[in-house]
Amino acid sequence: MTILVTGGAGYIGSHTCIELLNNDYNVVVVDNLYNSSKKALDRVKEITGKDLKFYKGDILDKDCLEKIFKENDIDCVIHFAGLKAVGESVGKPWEYYNNNITGSLNLIEAMKNAGCKNLIFSSSATVYGDPAQIPITEECPKGKCTNPYGWTKWMLEQIFTDMHTADPDWNVILLRYFNPIGAHPSGLIGEDPNGIPNNLMPYITQVAIGKLPELGIFGNDYDTPDGTCVRDYIHVCDLATGHVAALKKIKENCGVSIYNLGTGVGYSVLDVVNNFIEATGVNVPYSFKPRREGDVPQCYSSADKAKRELGWEAKYGIKEMCRDSWNWQQKNPDGFGEAESL
Ligand code: NAD
Ligand code: UDP
Repeated sequence: MTILVTGGAGYIGSHTCIELLNNDYNVVVVDNLYNSSKKALDRVKEITGKDLKFYKGDILDKDCLEKIFKENDIDCVIHFAGLKAVGESVGKPWEYYNNNITGSLNLIEAMKNAGCKNLIFSSSATVYGDPAQIPITEECPKGKCTNPYGWTKWMLEQIFTDMHTADPDWNVILLRYFNPIGAHPSGLIGEDPNGIPNNLMPYITQVAIGKLPELGIFGNDYDTPDGTCVRDYIHVCDLATGHVAALKKIKENCGVSIYNLGTGVGYSVLDVVNNFIEATGVNVPYSFKPRREGDVPQCYSSADKAKRELGWEAKYGIKEMCRDSWNWQQKNPDGFGEAESL
């Protein structure tokens, strides 16, 4: 079976490629390397001892997509490609809607033309907005997103669902990720943010290695056990195996199916800092800062549906997530080096 992985050189995509290759899928990657490096794919090959096919290309480029589908007999697409910086999306809504929505429309057009109607999509817990219930089940209504990035996920879920409504031959699995952290235990691939990280774990590792002076914790007066926000952190390698489980499901012609990919356990920001210190023995100085706009106090999943229907559950705990994030940071203090510009 041949899988097209859009955005396969990125953080989650590269870890998923490893799992796909380890499970004997043929892997074709398309990535414009806007937020990633080809080195990640070289290391995927090194880790697995297997080859994959790489197209440096853009999902905004219809000809490129047509060419890929013509040259490969694609059975299913795992669609990671997209812009993902929440804050940036507020200042650059057109870029986000264009890249994420237009790019995805191009992709489904190319899929349609090639007769490939199996799609697994990287969605996000952000579509729940301020969640109506905790833990969040898949039945929880979608909420109001607080930024254009979130709306692109919200809208794309609807667009892909409508494709199935119009043509039931389409199978679509919407995977709503919670908070991916960690790295491959080899330390060869991991998250490589541009500039100062916005997300918690890369910020912590950059403080730990001395690149940043201290962590600012956004808010300590939330209605949570210690006043800091609670999230469902999930090891990126667990997320990767979740995609392989979804591929098995899609072969059953599952129609539209939605799964949370989380651990079902919530940790506060202080819990993460303390676990990081315990797991690595490295101190992380921090101070409390005002709340960050748009943050919800608590967001963690019910992971029951994925366990029940996909036979998948997360295996790694928070200490392993911290250990592997730190291992990656230590071995690659400058990540993969400079990302290529468009
Ligand atoms: P990432 O930025 O590391 O990977 C995305 C990849 O897509 C990058 O390699 C980038 O170069 C590529 N890309 C972007 N636009 C493209 C285009 N027009 N054409 C071709 N390639 C393009 O991000 P990630 O963390 O690996 O996230 C993967 C997916 O999962 C994204 O869709 C993201 O929105 C979603 N997601 C991520 C998180 C998270 O916290 N990391 C949470 C929920 C959902
Ligand atoms: N956070 C923080 N300091 C930082 C980055 C994040 O206190 O420098 C907090 C943030 O307010 C949130 C949690 O860590 O409560 C996770 O944030 P992240 O941006 O990693 O993911 P989000 O849940 O917002 O998608």
